[in-house]
Amino acid sequence: MQKNLEYLVLLNDIDIMIDDLAKGSDEKYREMGFDVDAREQLVKAREEMRAKCSEAMLNRYDKIRQRYGKVVARVVDGVCYGCFQRLHTDLAQTKTNEDVVPCPTCGRLLYFLA
Ligand SMILES: [Zn+2]
Repeated sequence: MQKNLEYLVLLNDIDIMIDDLAKGSDEKYREMGFDVDAREQLVKAREEMRAKCSEAMLNRYDKIRQRYGKVVARVVDGVCYGCFQRLHTDLAQTKTNEDVVPCPTCGRLLYFLA
């Protein structure tokens, strides 16, 4: 997977976990075996991840995140799992993750599973 995309996927996961903790779902995480005092660690991990991303990437990421929360969307059988629209055949067949490609319908960044 392209490094940028990998970082964005991780960054999005971290951001969503931080959001969840802020919403007071500590109990849920505790049940799942997470250390809920890990918030500080998560914030630190987020900073480290953001430092690895380019400014342009982060701008794009932040814009999509503000709008949807979930920035990256998996492509399964040619369908974007962010908006559930079928992708154009050319795009659906890309499947390489070599570039960071936005979904033409919702704008989320697509990643393809091999
Ligand atoms: Zn989409």
